[in-house]
Amino acid sequence: MFDIPHLDVPPLRRVAGTVRLPGSKSISNRVLLLAGLSEGITEIHDLLDSDDTQVMLEALRQIGCGVAGDGAVTQVRGIGGRLRTAAQRLVLHLGNAGTAMRPLAAALALLVTRDGGEIELRGVARMHERPIGDLVDALRQLGAQVEYLGHDGFPPLLLRGQAGGAVHTGAPIRLRGDVSSQFLTALLLALPLAGGAQPIVIEVDGELISKPYVEITLALLQRFGIVVQRDGFERFTIPAGSRYRAPQRIHVEGDASSASYFIAAGAIAGVEAPLRIEGVGLDSIQGDIRFIDAAQAMGARVTGGPGWIEVRRGAWPLQAVTLDCNHMPDAAMTLAAMALYASGRTRLTHIGSWRVKETDRIAAMAAELRKLGATVVDGADFIEVEPPASPDRWRRAALHTYDDHRMAMCLSLAAFNPLAGGHVPVRLLDPRCVGKTFPDYFETLFGVASTDTPDIPVITVDGPTASGKGTLASTVAARLGWHQLDSGALYRATALAAMRRDVAADDADALGRVAASLALRFEADTVWLDGADVTLALRHEEVGKLASHVSALPAVRQALHALQLSFRRVPGLVADGRDMGTVVFPDASLKVFLTASAAMRAERRLKQLISKGISATLPDLRAELEARDARDVNRAVSPLKPAPDALQLDNSSLTIEQSADRVLQWWNERYVFD
Ligand code: C5P
Repeated sequence: MFDIPHLDVPPLRRVAGTVRLPGSKSISNRVLLLAGLSEGITEIHDLLDSDDTQVMLEALRQIGCGVAGDGAVTQVRGIGGRLRTAAQRLVLHLGNAGTAMRPLAAALALLVTRDGGEIELRGVARMHERPIGDLVDALRQLGAQVEYLGHDGFPPLLLRGQAGGAVHTGAPIRLRGDVSSQFLTALLLALPLAGGAQPIVIEVDGELISKPYVEITLALLQRFGIVVQRDGFERFTIPAGSRYRAPQRIHVEGDASSASYFIAAGAIAGVEAPLRIEGVGLDSIQGDIRFIDAAQAMGARVTGGPGWIEVRRGAWPLQAVTLDCNHMPDAAMTLAAMALYASGRTRLTHIGSWRVKETDRIAAMAAELRKLGATVVDGADFIEVEPPASPDRWRRAALHTYDDHRMAMCLSLAAFNPLAGGHVPVRLLDPRCVGKTFPDYFETLFGVASTDTPDIPVITVDGPTASGKGTLASTVAARLGWHQLDSGALYRATALAAMRRDVAADDADALGRVAASLALRFEADTVWLDGADVTLALRHEEVGKLASHVSALPAVRQALHALQLSFRRVPGLVADGRDMGTVVFPDASLKVFLTASAAMRAERRLKQLISKGISATLPDLRAELEARDARDVNRAVSPLKPAPDALQLDNSSLTIEQSADRVLQWWNERYVFD
């Protein structure tokens, strides 16, 4: 996951391949709550693992549920509709998760009213600005004691009750439907807890927004044994004697809102091949699956079946649309981003609920799309977007994401601007906010997106042995969210493979063949050679020594050349070695030549070896690294020398963080954003 201050996305041109979506947030949090309230154990498959579901899981633990699991399967042992925490005052921190705050407020209010107790519900600052007054009014009609601890109408809330209290379910409960459908969902999920001798009725005042989310709620209630009778979207009746029953096993489908970014990407950049999306399909119970209709209206070509969708470009440029988006407020944001690629003005209406989400999404979207060069008009409950008037109007922009996962994911689509004649990278600030619903969003996007090689930025770090290149390169790569190439590891792997296959150190042809046939795989911090973990073996001194010899052979260098180039993938690469800036990536955007005194390098190498349990002495090491420097500098092919345009960095007296800061500062001076 990209836990970094900003992510620079280079101009992108194509998508192809397959993505697998994480579980739906809406389904995950509803299922978790239902399982937590039921009697018995529910086994949940493919639950979304994200900030919002973590918040819900933690809350469930606090109210006494048992939670266990291994990633793929989560088991929840419910409280059986009884709260047994009356003795203490619970404080639940619910982050910015509306899908936790609203239903938990309702369910826990009813439970403390009946079973006694005190529960405080809090969130982050933005959560305390998101309205909840209509839900609280409805809960008070039921006899619940709910207090506002901050401003009236907003969290934080205090729920209070005495054991043996009564929930008043006799009269119909009235609820406003035009602020958030989550209020109705919250009541529907909570009221079966009060199930008694008589049916319970909810009446919705005004037009209900985001109806499809209520459909999800009703479908899931049914899985837990509650069949709600309904009269359109105006009146809902929970039958007498309703009681939650755990379904034992339940599967969470992929998130249809998350699918929208890839459906859009396919419509924009599925030029050579379709993009296949797995985990959610045409049989989805999620309203946002209707996004497909809107994408098709804009030009997407979509096919699909149960659990899968394939999307490719149809009309190009996309066609502008005017659309009432009341039925899919979240996915509709993606249409605003698609509008960047449409001919004409796209108008999205009935989106007033955007203003009370993670951020004021109408204002946020308008501000950021304008930064990119689009013409945007926004009103109380609509937005109109026209793409940049001409290709040269696309602007390099540093885009705010407002701690809003959907803003970050929508805005990433602006990186496809070369397909509309633009040619600008996009900087996304605080990209980590995607963790709310799709922690691996960017990794997933970069797994299917590609562009022309010259557009993929490369930073090279060359320098003598033990100058700290590897550590600097991995720190810079981590802070940019880029790939890393440790080219020394390729020479070391060649040496190790040669040793293991008994190839003579002077048999140049055979060594060239070894280099050409390396079965090498890099996986996070582990290096695999011929299926075995060789991470430690590669660091041995004999391996380094032989690497220094074999790296002087033209056949070896040539054999490894193409392999090194293949590391250049979006969003970018930090490559370290001896000839990264001079030979392998001569067009690198930034070249660093890293040095440190021989004494300092010998000391660092000694520490490194000792930490790995490998013994060595300082004088030997210093002599060896000076000999290696001499070989690297004097060899005929790719000798070690700074590229003419390299920036020199002597890190003898710098910490790794200081060196990385310097490189990132140089990078920011080159890759400037408004
Ligand atoms: O950097 P490291 O010590 O892991 O590299 C192992 C050997 O590979 C070095 O001694 C150097 O001679 C060689 N090498 C090279 N060109 C590179 C990277 C490493 O010649 N780009």
